[in-house]
Amino acid sequence: MKKISLLLLVTIICSCKSNRKTDESVKTIQVNKEYFITENIIGKIAEERVDLNGVGTLCYVIKTHSQATEHQMGPWCPRHIEDGMEKAGIWFKDDKVYDVSGHFIANLDEFYSDDKWKLYREDGSIKVTDTKDGCLSAAKPDVDEEYQNYCVECLPEYFKDQVTTFVIPVNPQYQNPSERLGRGGIGIAFNGVKFDPPAPTHAILAAHTIAPLDDHGGHVNPHGGYHYHAVTGSTKEIEQTDNHSPMIGYAIDGFGIYGLLDKSGTEPTDLDECGGHSDELRGYHYHAGKPGENQIIKCLKGVPGYTEVAE
Ligand SMILES: [Zn+2]
Ligand SMILES: [Zn+2]
Repeated sequence: MKKISLLLLVTIICSCKSNRKTDESVKTIQVNKEYFITENIIGKIAEERVDLNGVGTLCYVIKTHSQATEHQMGPWCPRHIEDGMEKAGIWFKDDKVYDVSGHFIANLDEFYSDDKWKLYREDGSIKVTDTKDGCLSAAKPDVDEEYQNYCVECLPEYFKDQVTTFVIPVNPQYQNPSERLGRGGIGIAFNGVKFDPPAPTHAILAAHTIAPLDDHGGHVNPHGGYHYHAVTGSTKEIEQTDNHSPMIGYAIDGFGIYGLLDKSGTEPTDLDECGGHSDELRGYHYHAGKPGENQIIKCLKGVPGYTEVAE
């Protein structure tokens, strides 16, 4: 009996996989490796045939330290409840972005209607994970007891030697149905910084911690260092010749990611469940979500590559 159900399960999983069909009627555009900021890439971008979903696929292999160079990284947590918002980053709730300041931290109990929030001491100083050990104990789903009620901040220098490898199909392949985001990187900005899936706010908030993003939508964790959860227009952009929003990077499936608003400040109205659509010039591509949405793209329409992080 057990054997039969296991067999059934295996069959279901396998048929799901093979159910995904590439649709060649959708126009796709090859990845342009010239768009990346050369100094931020370790060595050269390599071309390798890699097994993706059982098919040998020509991919770009891009290695970086995932560190921004066009903008400063941080600040994240304020240090005192009287610090202004220039001393800290941003946080989000219900699709809205909030500037973090000392005042914001002091009022988290009201903000979340939960009086267990208290990230500051009697002298007004804010509890910040200001060592690498603190960062390692707090920047994970099961936050250590002693770091509950902390503002979580890890510094880029703790993990600057980590190497993130991005494997991205040179020629993206559109397929149906769409694929859910995994836990690895979902894309790369032109500066070599990783775009990550949504920050796990449920686990973060359950420990009465917040892990602010900086004003550029990034923060640091032990799995690759600096990474973005939001697109705020701080990184290298490729201007378009028409009214379309600029390109800001690539998704892990090789489709381009563009800003949300076009030159007239208008949002596209025909985006699919992943946040993408097609046009003649750009083929299929994504538009980044609003910074408060904690979601740059919502799912993947192409055969995904993957990211790997090495110490
Ligand atoms: Zn994160
Ligand atoms: Zn578009």
